Amino acid sequence: MEFEPVIGLEIHAQLLTRSKAFCGCSTAFGAPPNTNTCPVCLGHPGALPVLNKQMVEMTIAMGLATHCSIRSFSLFARKNYFYHDLPKGYQISQYEEPLCYDGWVEIELEDGSTKKIGLIRIHMEEDTGKSIHDVDIDTLLDFNRAGVPLIEIVSKPDLRSAREAYLFLKQIHQIVTYLGICSGNMEEGALRCDANVSVRPKGSSSFGTKTEVKNLNSFRHVEKALEYEIQRQIQVLQSGGIVRQETMLWDPVRQETRPMRTKEQAHDYRYFPEPDLVPVVVPEEWIERIRQSLPELGLERKRRFIQQYHLPAYDAGVLTQQRAVADYFEEAVEALQQPSPDRIKGVSNLIMTEVLRVLAEKNIEIQDFPVPPASLAVLAELLAEGTISSRIGKTVFEKLLQHPDKHPEQIVEEEGLVQISDESALRQIVEEVLEQHPGELQRYFGGKKKLFGFFVGQVMKATKGKANPKVVNQLLQQILQEREAAAQQ
Ligand code: ADP
Ligand code: ZN
Ligand code: MG
Repeated sequence: MEFEPVIGLEIHAQLLTRSKAFCGCSTAFGAPPNTNTCPVCLGHPGALPVLNKQMVEMTIAMGLATHCSIRSFSLFARKNYFYHDLPKGYQISQYEEPLCYDGWVEIELEDGSTKKIGLIRIHMEEDTGKSIHDVDIDTLLDFNRAGVPLIEIVSKPDLRSAREAYLFLKQIHQIVTYLGICSGNMEEGALRCDANVSVRPKGSSSFGTKTEVKNLNSFRHVEKALEYEIQRQIQVLQSGGIVRQETMLWDPVRQETRPMRTKEQAHDYRYFPEPDLVPVVVPEEWIERIRQSLPELGLERKRRFIQQYHLPAYDAGVLTQQRAVADYFEEAVEALQQPSPDRIKGVSNLIMTEVLRVLAEKNIEIQDFPVPPASLAVLAELLAEGTISSRIGKTVFEKLLQHPDKHPEQIVEEEGLVQISDESALRQIVEEVLEQHPGELQRYFGGKKKLFGFFVGQVMKATKGKANPKVVNQLLQQILQEREAAAQQ
């Protein structure tokens, strides 16, 4: 029997508000432990929460960006449970009346087709404190994170493979970072995911019993954990067993899921309306104002890049992955003297192969990349015009990195890097190279045609990479043919 997985994700995203959800404490990541705390977020008796307006605004932005309906009247609830990182003994969350509900997100599958993934809800809640197990023999507690605003995005069970779940999480990541409401930094826990998964016989219309894999903090982990869990459940069913409704943990070292608690041990949170907060009332004008301020999102921008700049889908996808990279690209294109498709593609190539490589190597964001987009545009034009070879292009790029304020043309001039395309000058160098390698030449004539590349390389070497490779190729072909013909006579 063939089985099909059914997956729904619950994604938590920390919001980039300056202060916490219900008090004035800073949300800054990495502050010394317990310095961003006050009686409200430490749960002192009698301390009263006050709702952060920016939190509501950011949640509405996310709701609108994901085609949700926005409730004009929504409630906070207490989710009661005891845990040492939860000083109040309850978490303020939304339960029956979440701010956003019934939306969808479009994902692009690898074959280029698209799929809409439904959203059940997006609600507001607060983060818990953090337990630190690896600094002392005792568990230490840092309450800086307690009360940091979160949204929880709950998808419908519309995902049908681990890969789709991965792509969906990527899409959510892209939306929250484009909106600027979450750093998206999964290593810092700013975006985390619980994955619900069940399997069913292919063609069946009902769902199987699901398990939930908790706290996945990287894209890879989500995919790997789901792949594992899907196989595990299929094996259970195929051997005649039944899947138990369990909460699991993913062990990235052993690459397996392990049960954390079963349904019998499941919490009864005894939700009830939060008596210390008034309902959240959202007037229509407010929603409209936020709607007007929404930026163009990643997928839309990708499609526009394909249309407007005639870029391959691959390029458009890479360039629009991050909003700031897409901005950089568009500024460079804006700076082109002749914005022809080949030059625009040239800019794209430079960003994809050089700029993004440097960002990865130096582990920096494009905001900290020193070369102005206009200089990259000039470099693309020098390459397109054939003023410099692609190899010299790399040299100029490296020099630009060291002297970002210099004009690329100035670098080319100062360093004498202009490409040699002059045929008579190159002919002489080609002749010299052949002169210097009589052995290779003989082997070439003897049938080792692969040595052609060797001769090209030698000419490039002799010109320090400045020779126009196209002209060199033509000349070499011509001269070698002439010589071969002469030798045969
Ligand atoms: P629960 O009440 O157990 O929390 P919810 O209905 O709130 O379940 O759904 C939680 C998440 O689990 C959602 O993302 C939803 O899409 C997903 N889900 C629900 N049922 C299934 C199922 N049978 N298989 C896989 N995922 C499911
Ligand atoms: Zn506080
Ligand atoms: Mg639930």
